[in-house]
Amino acid sequence: MSTARLKINLDALAINWRNLDAKTGCETAAVVKANGYGLDAGRVGKTLAQAGARNFFVAVAEEGIALRRALGPGPGISVFSGHMEGDTKLLRDFQLTPMLNSLDQMLRHFESLPGHPFGVQLDSGMNRLGMEAAEWFAVRDIALAQNPVLLMSHLACADEPGHGMSPYQLKNFTDMTEGLNIPRSLSATGGLLLGRDYHFDLCRPGIGLYGGAPYDNALPVIELEVPVIQTREIAQRESVGYGNSWVAQRDSRIATIAAGYADGLHRAFQRQGIMAYAGSTPCPVVGRISMDLITVDVTDLDEVPETLSLINEVQTVDVLAKAADTIGYEVLTSLGNRYARTYTA
Ligand SMILES: *Cc1c(COP(=O)(O)O)cnc(C)c1O
Repeated sequence: MSTARLKINLDALAINWRNLDAKTGCETAAVVKANGYGLDAGRVGKTLAQAGARNFFVAVAEEGIALRRALGPGPGISVFSGHMEGDTKLLRDFQLTPMLNSLDQMLRHFESLPGHPFGVQLDSGMNRLGMEAAEWFAVRDIALAQNPVLLMSHLACADEPGHGMSPYQLKNFTDMTEGLNIPRSLSATGGLLLGRDYHFDLCRPGIGLYGGAPYDNALPVIELEVPVIQTREIAQRESVGYGNSWVAQRDSRIATIAAGYADGLHRAFQRQGIMAYAGSTPCPVVGRISMDLITVDVTDLDEVPETLSLINEVQTVDVLAKAADTIGYEVLTSLGNRYARTYTA
């Protein structure tokens, strides 16, 4: 079998949730949008529900279907994109709580699902989703009369401690929500790590659960093992791969492994010279990353193992992200469908 194996450690996921939860005095929910950051929202959700999470967030209503099926009727599932046209039946049938983002969404919700739980998303400065202060103050009494279950907002720069945007947004959010006696939530992973001022009644970490920055003390959650399909000996000055971009400086042994950019291993990873690991021994990736294959210089190994590791405790998702000048979130959510995903608990 030449399918690469993506190993997902559900135990580490649960520990990351508990450790983040221990930093707060409030409720800790879990963000499982984009199919649980690519790791399977159902499995992730079940694991975190067992760890103690009672509320979950997804991006769009459709994502709530699989999650509700996995979690059963108890836990709360909230939808960041709110109540869009066509969502009514899904919100009702799968007991999803929309975070309403505009007056339009409010009117739609109150008319089509009267009495159905909802929250309100406020824009405290990011200018992405949610009601701005003026709009909120104009419709606040109407919203409050319908008993929102949560008032939330989102920080733009929480992953940069000391950034002036966070206290600015904290003040805006506080001004919009003070004294209303409704549960409030401002922080994702980054804000949770900024400390208690940012916690309010509920934190909503995502990336930190999955082992990514800015939660630097997270346990790694995934490993990627890629089978070696073939090894060959090449002479000094022979080239490897598309464009002859790598030329051997010595007689070399090259291993070809079975994954590529179609699996989310971006060509840009090569810019900083990533490694494939034989156990703990790093071997340089050489030549261009192709769609389904990657070539590795294994000359210095005594023996070439059956698989090489591309994601592990040393070369984490964040290390790969840095190599491609992107973020761990993008690396995680780009990991492709071809991997055999295996879950350990
Ligand atoms: C994605 C998202 C989160 C989770 O963010 P992380 O940085 O992954 O912890 C929380 N709230 C909102 C509104 C989001 O879009």
